[in-house]
Amino acid sequence: MENRKILTGEKIVVKVGKLNIGGDNPPVLIAGPCAVESKKQVIDTALALKEIGVNILRGGAFKPRTSPYSFQGLGLKGLEYLREAGEKAGLPIVTELMDEKNLDAVAEYADIIQIGSRNMYNYPLLKTIGEIDKPILLKRGMSATIKEWIMAAEYIATFGNKKIILCERGIRTFQNYTRNTLDLAAVPIMQKETGLPVVVDPSHGTGIRELILPMSKAALACGANGLMIEVHTDPKCALSDGFQSITPEEYRKVVEDVKKYFL
Ligand code: PEP
Ligand code: MN
Repeated sequence: MENRKILTGEKIVVKVGKLNIGGDNPPVLIAGPCAVESKKQVIDTALALKEIGVNILRGGAFKPRTSPYSFQGLGLKGLEYLREAGEKAGLPIVTELMDEKNLDAVAEYADIIQIGSRNMYNYPLLKTIGEIDKPILLKRGMSATIKEWIMAAEYIATFGNKKIILCERGIRTFQNYTRNTLDLAAVPIMQKETGLPVVVDPSHGTGIRELILPMSKAALACGANGLMIEVHTDPKCALSDGFQSITPEEYRKVVEDVKKYFL
């Protein structure tokens, strides 16, 4: 593929604290609620996940919701709760940055900054996070081709930041049985083309909790460098994405099952 100066396919391992992501390192487990809803929720979840063997805690404080009337996240309070939960459990945290105005706060609190699917094409935001020294989790745009996704990563890298973890989270296709179509062929393609680690998010990728286990196995079988899964202590009462969230106990089974084969 033409026009790439930085991400030429040479292997890049991204360090997050003591964790090495990518290359020949074992897959990483990223899990947590879609959104931080309360201090108790995120602390309870973090402690349960740590015990199961999770490596990184996720949780949205600024949520990109389709409807302006849906829960938008707790904002700065959510960041504080997430960090407190991460510290209590001894886990690094990843959270989404949607708006440049929150860059300083998110960069101060988070160990990894997530750029969500809706912002993969936000070139000013990509440039901004390219200028900071912090790992980035770059989700695939929901309608992004492989080339567009590669170029979004190249944007970040070209401004100096090569600490990029890619996340396949499904794309929109004519098929609408699942929320998105999880494009697992993208995993080995993106690894080869960019050299970057690629993790898979079967929660947004399918939108169906029963599909999380089979698609997690499939993701690891095709060489994914990690899994990002939404876990909620009470999915039916979740303020966002409850239908695709699993409980810590269900998550434990997923981890035990995939570990038998791969980890
Ligand atoms: C998320 O991970 O919380 C999220 C909003 O995902 P995406 O950007 O992939 O829709
Ligand atoms: Mn979600």
